[in-house]
Amino acid sequence: ADAIPASSSRLTAGAMRNAAAGDTMLMAELRDAITRGELGYCLQPKIDLRSGRLLGAELLVRWEHPRFGPLEPDAFVPIAEQTDTIGEMTLYLARCGLEQCRRWAAAGERLHVSVNVSANDLADPRLVDAIIEATGSQGHCLMLEITETAVMREPERVAVALPRLRAHGIRISVDDFGVGHSSLVNLRRLAPDELKIDRSFVAAVLDSASDRAIVRATIQLGHELGASVVAEGIEDEATRAWLATAGCDSGQGFGIAKPMPAARFMELLG
Ligand code: C2E
Ligand code: CA
Ligand code: CA
Ligand code: CA
Repeated sequence: ADAIPASSSRLTAGAMRNAAAGDTMLMAELRDAITRGELGYCLQPKIDLRSGRLLGAELLVRWEHPRFGPLEPDAFVPIAEQTDTIGEMTLYLARCGLEQCRRWAAAGERLHVSVNVSANDLADPRLVDAIIEATGSQGHCLMLEITETAVMREPERVAVALPRLRAHGIRISVDDFGVGHSSLVNLRRLAPDELKIDRSFVAAVLDSASDRAIVRATIQLGHELGASVVAEGIEDEATRAWLATAGCDSGQGFGIAKPMPAARFMELLG
């Protein structure tokens, strides 16, 4: 009995059936959520760590569920990934991001938007085509974030998609860098435009010498690969200052700005 993990001993067979039934229900509802206009998003500012200048925003999906209220991505993105819905969702959100970029440009600000994509997305050539078509001549506006783990799930197909996106000026960021298991060979081949240091390392830089070493090494690796390096999850000024001194290019986090509605982001442009 000692060998049974706590999580499975807490879940009765009935609860597990209910959880699975709930997922199936959400999966069906998610298909209509886009057309019903229930999918929204927040924007989290990304700044230059030395100058403090605003560089752009990361688009983070939200689902205004009619009965459950606002749902966090962790509650439905994994479900979308099990179906074709993820591609539709990604394309919809990329269009939303591009639309925001046009507004920022009209207000005189040349900013980019970072959109999270899943492994399945970049593995689907039709979706890659659709993103390229939606982007048109706005390639400089769009950065796609793909987690290191996702890259490793579909390394061959991602490697095919990236040059096509790049040919249209779309940039690629490797998200949650450091917690996945990408080989250096893969990383060199992907030639990402940005490495995004995972929050778990960023949160520990002031307390842990080994995390500081990992972050310094990541910054050096990124720069030597020709990539810009961004830190996520910066929660306080001391962390921001340390990262800036360590040569990290840009940053995001609650200590800089929390994710906000598009209208509030627009107000930041002044
Ligand atoms: P992520 O890509 O690593 O996104 C960053 C998450 O960290 C966001 O949570 C953000 O609100 C949160 N965060 C930002 N700054 C801080 C901070 O200083 N401290 C802490 N503790 N958290 C911070 P969110 O919005 O709940 O998103 C969670 C994850 O869901 C994302 O992680 C991403 O993997 C996924 N996700 C979000 N939007 C999308 C999307 O449009 N498409 C896909 N495929 N995945 C998405
Ligand atoms: Ca991200
Ligand atoms: Ca991340
Ligand atoms: Ca994350």
